[in-house]
Amino acid sequence: MTKTAEELKDRYQQLKTKYDEYTAHPLNLNIKRGIPSKEQLDLSVPMLGLLSSPEDFLSQGTVDIRNYGELTGFYEARKLFSELLETEIDEVLIGGNSSLSLMYLVILSKLFTRKMGSSFKEPIKFLCPSPGYDRHFAMTENLGIEMIPIALTENGPDMDEVKKLVANDPTIKGIWCVPTYSNPTGITYSDEVVDQLASMETKDADFMILWDNAYLVHHLTNDKHAAKNLLTACKAAGNPDRAWMFCSTSKITFPGAGVAALGASKKNIALVAKELSYQTIGFDKINQMQHVKFLKDKKQVAQHMEKHAIILKPKFELINQKLTDYFAGKEGLTWTEPKGGYFVHLTTEKGCATEIVEALAKIGVAVTEAGATYPYGNNPMDNSIRLAPTPVSLVDLDAAMDAICLCIEYVSVQKRLSL
Ligand code: PMP
Repeated sequence: MTKTAEELKDRYQQLKTKYDEYTAHPLNLNIKRGIPSKEQLDLSVPMLGLLSSPEDFLSQGTVDIRNYGELTGFYEARKLFSELLETEIDEVLIGGNSSLSLMYLVILSKLFTRKMGSSFKEPIKFLCPSPGYDRHFAMTENLGIEMIPIALTENGPDMDEVKKLVANDPTIKGIWCVPTYSNPTGITYSDEVVDQLASMETKDADFMILWDNAYLVHHLTNDKHAAKNLLTACKAAGNPDRAWMFCSTSKITFPGAGVAALGASKKNIALVAKELSYQTIGFDKINQMQHVKFLKDKKQVAQHMEKHAIILKPKFELINQKLTDYFAGKEGLTWTEPKGGYFVHLTTEKGCATEIVEALAKIGVAVTEAGATYPYGNNPMDNSIRLAPTPVSLVDLDAAMDAICLCIEYVSVQKRLSL
């Protein structure tokens, strides 16, 4: 039922009183970035004691992994990640601790080396399904690549738009995708979308799909989602070199001390290995071996991820409960109930998200900047807020959610009253 002007003013006063209380006694809570909690990090501490005997440092019983070499990763590490990425062993390259740096390397290798000198003269464009991962967009912008926003639906990018654009513009060289439990909306690409991406006509013969499968095993419930394998789909469509698949253990073991991997055609792996050979003689294989011993295989990884889910699930349930209690049956806010990944996404009334985030900042609750999940930080609707609840305790999250609910309504009522 719509409120009368009088009721709205009364409500505004109530909300303002509560908000002023927060201003007088600000919180100190940060749910800005998707980082594991201390409790989650503790799950992987046993990994650090697994290398002790001389045999532990040998790959296939012969190669001493403490030394230089094995640029693309040693056998057992490639085997483990080939299971996770569902590729052949020689379709995997093991990197350092960061999948983002592998993405950067792939873009540089494909588009910015001297072999591609002519590219520098014409614009390079990427399609950016949005809302998406802010660091993808920051990387693309930093490299001087023009970003074209594409709507992200429940099933993946708006493929009508994608197909139309890539069929006609040879300067569109790639698309960013977070195919499983996407950051931030938590959607998983449908099989149909994966097949369309794999088979669509592209004006640029070398079109790249940057398939950042950061959350491929990060389920929160027994209703487990996973995007169809892109490399397999690309091979079936006759475009094997289009797929560039990434993952890392940043949110399986330790961010900053994990292991990242690239899955691609053998031709593409060779191309990246060549570029890599100008930068390093090999990555940290001792860390790779610790991961091999600790995570063992896909089944063991799944068991380990169950432990993460036990810690994370109550946080996501709490957010859902709080939002339901406050907003169910009211207009003006919708939110996601992700089955995996690290984020909850709020869709606010148009033109409100920036003000809500600012109002929260003033009372000591840090959430991701409102436009950050859009190319150039620009969401024309200004209606998107990302919550990253994983690092905080349930008690702190509870307090943050009370403040978030209040600020969403406070900004909305202010707008209605044109204050
Ligand atoms: N991709 C996505 C979609 C992410 O959400 C994150 C972490 N927030 C990363 C990549 C970072 O991965 P890494 O630590 O392997 O560089």
